[in-house]
Amino acid sequence: MAALNGAVENGQPDRKVPLPRPLRSLEVKYTKIFINNEWHESTSGKKFPTYNPSTLEKICDVEEGDKPDVDNAVEAAKAAFQRGAPWRQMDALSRGRLLHKLADLLERDRVILATLETMDTGKPFLQAYFIDLEGCIKTLRYYAGWADKIQGRTIPVDENFVCFTRHEPMGVCGAITPWNFPLLMLVWKMAPALCCGNTLVIKPAEQTPLTSLYIGSLIKEVGFPPGVVNIVPGYGPTAGAAISTHHSIDKIAFTGSTKVGKLIKEAASKSNLKRVTLELGGKNPCIVCADADLDLAVECAHQGVFFNQGQCCTAASRVFVEEQIYPEFVKRSVEYAKKRLVGDPFDARTEQGPQIDQNQFDKILELIESGKKEGAKLECGGLAIEDRGLFIKPTVFSEVTDNMRIAKEEIFGPVQPIMKFKSIEEVIRRANSTEYGLTAAVFTKNLDRALTLASALQSGTVWINCYNALYAQAPFGGFKMSGNGRELGEYALAEYTEVKTVTIKLSQKSP
Ligand code: NAP
Ligand code: MG
Repeated sequence: MAALNGAVENGQPDRKVPLPRPLRSLEVKYTKIFINNEWHESTSGKKFPTYNPSTLEKICDVEEGDKPDVDNAVEAAKAAFQRGAPWRQMDALSRGRLLHKLADLLERDRVILATLETMDTGKPFLQAYFIDLEGCIKTLRYYAGWADKIQGRTIPVDENFVCFTRHEPMGVCGAITPWNFPLLMLVWKMAPALCCGNTLVIKPAEQTPLTSLYIGSLIKEVGFPPGVVNIVPGYGPTAGAAISTHHSIDKIAFTGSTKVGKLIKEAASKSNLKRVTLELGGKNPCIVCADADLDLAVECAHQGVFFNQGQCCTAASRVFVEEQIYPEFVKRSVEYAKKRLVGDPFDARTEQGPQIDQNQFDKILELIESGKKEGAKLECGGLAIEDRGLFIKPTVFSEVTDNMRIAKEEIFGPVQPIMKFKSIEEVIRRANSTEYGLTAAVFTKNLDRALTLASALQSGTVWINCYNALYAQAPFGGFKMSGNGRELGEYALAEYTEVKTVTIKLSQKSP
């Protein structure tokens, strides 16, 4: 994610930049349901715990929203979207100002938010501060600039007619977010939705609700009218399903697993055909040609798969290396993995924290076992770190073949499977032979090869000689089962607006 930040290059803090210090003791202030700019207890009276994955200690209990709470949030969001309501009357420039002000408050509270994100997810604090928060602030400012530039067109038709389009907000948007980048994935949805004039009902992932709830307090402080942003923490099959089946929600944006993405699309089609954008999984090919800058390719492939404990939809989890350089590439990748510092995410030296929860931890270890059994060569790692909860040793497998589970399934953990290829035609066929199509990366100095691969690979993003180079202004999303629609950039505006055609018949033909 080097491109999203100035002070972490390929996952390593730049020592020339002053490093912030996390808040060692932080009182969690916001644990309730946020509706109409007020904090509410759950209708059921239930709460659920959120844990710190690096210590396995409970951080706090959070109000557990369910269908009645989602109904209340939707009512608030609907009222805020009514014609004549302050949000609808506000001119577009003022909407942009509110988004800029929200970005200002994220800058002010950056250490608090990064500390909360690290407590709740286990991701290294410097990553939360320099990558997640930086990405949030840039995305808010980017869409703040768009708010007053969302324009329709005039369309030439018959001489005695005038025809134009309006790009109107859709209405109440649902956002269901994952636990791997809780705040960033929220902002990727919230910023374009608000800049286009929609209202929102958000359900954060059950494992990581705290930064999303903190945003509620900032929404109120900024002065967004009540009901424009509502946040309902809770579980997927209850609060999440209440959003995806709701008849008064006009659009839903989801990031998470392909399995739940399918459920959401099904729920949308069975309820009110709400618009759906989905950002789902990936099994992303990272292709290293023999002529590549080997130092660069080894480092990018390493960061590409191990970044965020491997819990990335963009993870470089199928590395294809041309056979001439295969042994050297594997050797250097193992050296990198063995050096990776795993430990306390609040320590500035730490590169890798714990996995998010026991389920994910067990799933990763089970996939590692499958790799061993199916005949891949375990070069390093392959185990949990003893007596340390949810920490897993950085793991590299060589001699991986396409039929193995570790080459087919999303691992979402610190595991690097490395395969060998002989020709470009072969690697194109193998790279595309997956149901996913989120990202791909190519390492070569040969322009012809780079562009051939860029056009042949079936994925929403192709990185050439870089990895995780994400920008607020460049669209992101998947081909095939990696999703529908695009987040970020100008392209995302279309996902939050309806196009209305207005055709006017003139009373008489012009002379
Ligand atoms: P998940 O279930 O897809 O979680 C994503 C979000 O969907 C969470 O907010 C979740 O709520 C919600 N959800 C779950 N069931 C739902 C339903 N029936 N209706 C509406 N919303 C629902 O993902 P997970 O189980 O946490 O992780 C499983 C796998 O998903 C991972 O191993 C990884 O492969 C993939 N994943 C991908 C991404 C990504 O960035 N594309 C992110 C996370 C996970 P709860 O938190 O309450 O379950
Ligand atoms: Mg937690």
